[in-house]
Amino acid sequence: MHKGTGASSGIAIGKAFILPSFEWDFPETMVDVQDLALEFERFYEGIRTSKDEIVTMKQELSDVLGKEETNIFDAHLAILEDPIFMNEVQGLIQRQYKAAEVAVKEVVDKFVSMFELLDDEYMKERALDIKDVGNRLLKHLLGMYEDNLPPQDHPYILVAQELSPSQLAHLDPSRVLGIVTMVGGRTSHTAIMARAMGIPLVIGPDQGMDLPIQNGDLVVLDGDEGLMYINPNPMVIELYVQRKEEWQRHRESLQRIVHEPAQTMDGTEMVLAANISSIKELEMALKNGATGVGLFRTEFLYMDRDTLPKEEEQFEVYREVAQKNGGQPIVIRTLDIGGDKQLDYLALPEEDNPCLGYRAVRILLDRRDLFKTQLKAILRASMYGNVKIMYPMISSVEEVRKANEVLEQAKRELLSEEKPFKPDVEVGIMIEVPAAVAIADLLAREVQFFSIGTNDLVQYVLAVDRMNEKIAHLYDPYHPAIIRLLKQTIDAARTRGIPVSVCGEMAGDAQTLPLWLGLGVRVLSMSAQSLLQVKSRLLASSEAESRALVEQILTCATSEEIKLVLQAQ
Ligand code: PEP
Ligand code: MG
Repeated sequence: MHKGTGASSGIAIGKAFILPSFEWDFPETMVDVQDLALEFERFYEGIRTSKDEIVTMKQELSDVLGKEETNIFDAHLAILEDPIFMNEVQGLIQRQYKAAEVAVKEVVDKFVSMFELLDDEYMKERALDIKDVGNRLLKHLLGMYEDNLPPQDHPYILVAQELSPSQLAHLDPSRVLGIVTMVGGRTSHTAIMARAMGIPLVIGPDQGMDLPIQNGDLVVLDGDEGLMYINPNPMVIELYVQRKEEWQRHRESLQRIVHEPAQTMDGTEMVLAANISSIKELEMALKNGATGVGLFRTEFLYMDRDTLPKEEEQFEVYREVAQKNGGQPIVIRTLDIGGDKQLDYLALPEEDNPCLGYRAVRILLDRRDLFKTQLKAILRASMYGNVKIMYPMISSVEEVRKANEVLEQAKRELLSEEKPFKPDVEVGIMIEVPAAVAIADLLAREVQFFSIGTNDLVQYVLAVDRMNEKIAHLYDPYHPAIIRLLKQTIDAARTRGIPVSVCGEMAGDAQTLPLWLGLGVRVLSMSAQSLLQVKSRLLASSEAESRALVEQILTCATSEEIKLVLQAQ
């Protein structure tokens, strides 16, 4: 048994598929003069196979993708036929006796860095294409492509060193039974997505990549306890088959309360809204009784593609979400990229401390073109529902004012383009940086609502990287410092008369419900999978008791004491 962190609940039993990490690591092989002809043949064969593969992919996907998306395949084919690329590789084989893969990697790296340096978005995108094509060619040259694809004939448990949100977005969720990653944290976006998709996830099992595991091994995953078993004995399997059935029965039984009003035993109502990142997640949330959307993470619209989404495309998505929500509020958060959410095509700089770096509103205020396009799309969608705008990672009043300037500019442009929008769309901010808590009273004068992002707030207050499994035990949402800052924010909002909700993962942890009730929060936003658990706790709670409980919590010196008080209710 291997112990890690349970990051998405549920039980998975299935065969392992180990995702190879595509960090190329092969020897700098040289070729003997008499073998040069063979090496050229190997190179040409690699080119032919890569081209065939691209043509097949293009044909297979032409029904599903639009013309613009399939053009990418033509661009990739053109690279494999490009005379400069071919000449450079051939030159290295011919004159420096380098093996084909060594020559290809060298030329690809050179072209990629050349293109990345250019101050032109289009050229930067071409760098991505070259990287992609280079990887395909290298996989063929090294003869390891087919082996590395997930099994097609059966669902599997994915075991990976690391999995980015966009890699996860690429996977077919109906085929992924469970996931194990060696690095990451409970509130990393990959974990948030896995929970939204209902896929059990265990992070950082002991032994890491040295786990004695091979493709096809039978794995049992317990996403609640963070346990992983490799080829366990029949008793363990039997036990987990039963637990899985119990777990499913429990989830089904929760469906009974979907239509019950969300209120405590003493009649205090709460809004249980959803965190979503796509229309599919909204549908799941509505099935689980969500009242509106408290956080639409729009960054996923920007992922899994090669270029920025245009205003029209974004507008269509926001409009659909607004319409599907039937008049309930929908809070659209503007692009919160950076940190663990990267967009290759934006070519963000490598940073030593990405979470303290160029991210979220800092990028938006720097790349106003991109920000304005998104704001225009959101504003237009406001005609179709109760749409609100939220800025991420605000740490000063100036940032809010600057963001609002761009919003005003977006409105002016829409007016001159004669595109309709609601002029009084509400604007709010995420409270997720300690500085924002400290000046919550000042920020509350500038905006119409707050939403507390506990995922980042915990990371910044405790100086604990939310994605680092080594210090996962220090990532402690129940730390008395966090409780005090939550209270400070909620009190500031109340004094200034603006609503405050919570949209970090803490909101979806049913155990914290009395805390929110007692502190006076009346809107919680969480992943679709948590809605009914939290509701079930709400139905069995009392506001009066929760208030008393919070008085007690505020006197606790340690998170253990706080947890005990919460558990006692
Ligand atoms: C948060 O930080 O709590 C939050 C909701 O935003 P994200 O998880 O997307 O950073
Ligand atoms: Mg955040």
